[in-house]
Amino acid sequence: MQCLLNMFTQIPVQDTLEQTIHHFEHQRRRTYQIAGLLSVVFISIDAFAISFSERYSSWAERWVYLTNSLFMAVCALLLIWMLSQRRYHLVFIERLAFCLFTFDSLVFNSLAPPLFGQTLAQRWYETVKDDIWLIMVVCALAFHLFRYQIAMAFTISFYSLSAAMVASQMWFAGRQGADLAPGWQTLQVYGSAAVFLGFIYVMSHYRMQAQQLQTEYTLMKEWALFDGLTGIANRRRCEQALREAMARGERYGEPFTICLWDIDHFKQINDAYGHETGDQVLRQMAQVARSRIRTADTVGRWGGEEFFLLLPHTRLPEAQQLVERLRRDIMAAIVVGDRPVTASFGLAEYCNDDDPASLLARADEALYTAKATGRNRVCVNASLASQPVAFL
Ligand code: GH3
Ligand code: MG
Ligand code: MG
Repeated sequence: MQCLLNMFTQIPVQDTLEQTIHHFEHQRRRTYQIAGLLSVVFISIDAFAISFSERYSSWAERWVYLTNSLFMAVCALLLIWMLSQRRYHLVFIERLAFCLFTFDSLVFNSLAPPLFGQTLAQRWYETVKDDIWLIMVVCALAFHLFRYQIAMAFTISFYSLSAAMVASQMWFAGRQGADLAPGWQTLQVYGSAAVFLGFIYVMSHYRMQAQQLQTEYTLMKEWALFDGLTGIANRRRCEQALREAMARGERYGEPFTICLWDIDHFKQINDAYGHETGDQVLRQMAQVARSRIRTADTVGRWGGEEFFLLLPHTRLPEAQQLVERLRRDIMAAIVVGDRPVTASFGLAEYCNDDDPASLLARADEALYTAKATGRNRVCVNASLASQPVAFL
């Protein structure tokens, strides 16, 4: 909420936002670099294991898998270096890493094994052990890095290719009269993983839509209740606060006072210094008022260069003191050219048979008196409609 208010006032928030984004990007780069270094360590251990493993039937096979390790290690080092160079955009590096990873896993998990005569039983073992997880991670990453349609097309192709590799192996194995059961089991694993992935995508899609709707609704609500130029409450919000205070006054006898104030000779500021300076004065006015009021008070822009203040639990004398301080603070804080900006204030306290219109009319009358008697002053409405409510 505060963030949203700041957004309206367009002051240093943009800088803060950029700093935060910059900080996050820096952290992401660091994290990726650490992950990259760790992968180089793991790849080296794996390469060492491949060199001495009994699993490989020929030296050719062993060299192909060692080449894979070397390729992965070079890629990881390249990515670590790119991460240290600001000129490479982070999204570009992420996508490049994704493509390299996908290419590698396609070649060495789907295409290479059948070439080296992997049996269906071995295939089943490899799939359950790590291939299926790898494919799921790659597909989930695609949704993180690309647009929905691209990620969907990628996932379907990647999955179909992996399943097609198993199916073709089954076809060859079937011609040689081998047992096809491990092949069917592998396809079943692919199938269940696809259902699981699909379920997650559908859930996250709906969740994203719900979140988007919620954000839009919150923004619309805020825009409907806050003033675009100054970031403080708009007239509708002020009227709402007034009605609520009045309901509490009627029901619990809570006293409150309202104040309407208007910048003196504002037209002259606009005429002499331009509309933009006038807008700046309005923003500063809102800032000063916001910084001086208490949390329970409501301050808003009533319209043009007129403002509204509602002080709950506050009787006239106390409100007068508070507003007098605000008047002086405004003069001290807002200066245009070499002249302090001044304003005139009208105060009225809620009485038993007040309605919003009557209370506002009395505050407006007091404001008029402040203007008529020389401006730059606080006036209270003397002609109370009836008795103020009693303190509880
Ligand atoms: P007074 O002391 O009697 O209040 O005189 P004033 O000049 O402040 O009052 P007047 O009603 O003559 O002029 C108000 C001016 O406020 C006229 C209008 O152009 C200007 N104004 C209203 N809304 C805005 C705004 O959003 N931005 C700027 N820059 N000016 C505005
Ligand atoms: Mg004015
Ligand atoms: Mg006015």
